[in-house]
Amino acid sequence: MNLQVVTIDGPAASGKSSVSRELAREMGWRWVSTGAFYRGLAYVAQATGVDIGSEEALSRLAHSSIWEVQLGEDRTKVFLNGNDVTENIYREEVGTAASQLSLYPKVRASLLAAQRACANASSWLVAEGRDCGTVVFPEAPLKIYLTARSEARAQRRAAEEGSSLEEMQRVQAERDKQDTTRKAAPLQIPENAHVIDTSSMELNEVVDAVKALVETSLQL
Ligand code: C5P
Repeated sequence: MNLQVVTIDGPAASGKSSVSRELAREMGWRWVSTGAFYRGLAYVAQATGVDIGSEEALSRLAHSSIWEVQLGEDRTKVFLNGNDVTENIYREEVGTAASQLSLYPKVRASLLAAQRACANASSWLVAEGRDCGTVVFPEAPLKIYLTARSEARAQRRAAEEGSSLEEMQRVQAERDKQDTTRKAAPLQIPENAHVIDTSSMELNEVVDAVKALVETSLQL
């Protein structure tokens, strides 16, 4: 059986989650934000006092059963000691901490098996992140890379979080630089990926463009 996965990679706030959620909803598929694994680990490290600078300690924590990631229709959720802490992980400051610990190869390796386990033979999965098409699911039959001008991306997130546009642009530029220049699994356009610039597109237009690719590229 071929892998039933569509990957969507791209920089911060390029629309990956919104597009994945809507595509999954319209197709009756499941979706996962692989960023939730990095955000969840960063949040859990902070909440339990684990040093965010220690690759070894973080990699042990990645395997710990005190926390887990669960797929959801609306968001990919994180639970710590059985409590839903999802609300806490999607803040930009947790994104920044996630980007720092995602530099460590051992941490990335420790999260990989759980990310891959989201795929199964019974339904299609949309997997979004930075390395879904290159590392997590290199065999995926359809790979998308979303991009957008930095101002458009900062505008989206600043509006969501009610913070200043300039500050958001600065923080995102730093995170993108860290994600694209790291040695382990840097953000890059996967080979054979379809690139969509979403700067001047509405969400439904992006979803329609992706659905058209699904129809032409996949045998469902
Ligand atoms: O996509 P999201 O903003 O939730 O990701 C948070 C951070 O997690 C990213 O900035 C990146 O450093 C890291 N990440 C990653 N690989 C992925 C997904 C996210 O390194 N596949």
